[in-house]
Amino acid sequence: MKWFQTAWHWLLRLFVGRKAKPYRTVIVNEALPAQLVANTLYVVEDDGFLEQAAMLCPCGCKRILHMNLLPDDRPCWQLTQHPDGTATLHPSVWRKKDCGSHFWFRRGQVIWCE
Ligand SMILES: [Zn+2]
Repeated sequence: MKWFQTAWHWLLRLFVGRKAKPYRTVIVNEALPAQLVANTLYVVEDDGFLEQAAMLCPCGCKRILHMNLLPDDRPCWQLTQHPDGTATLHPSVWRKKDCGSHFWFRRGQVIWCE
């Protein structure tokens, strides 16, 4: 079954190579760390409530994007956590000032909007 192994490895490499490494999700208590790490979505939890999500702007501008998760405040994002450790945010993230980044965050992947 050598041909099968070769084909499998080839397929695997094609798949992994094409897909960017997903963001990992880190749950933090009450406050964000002083220094955020790239490719990480931080979720701030306070008293059992998901308060906000934060990440370094994926465009590379080094600014921190904050997404409120509390339904009583506006704007508000919905966070879905997946069993593989990734997360999805809804609706899209749009930084209207500065760099103007506009993207969807789905299953740990940044999908840019035009
Ligand atoms: Zn940016």
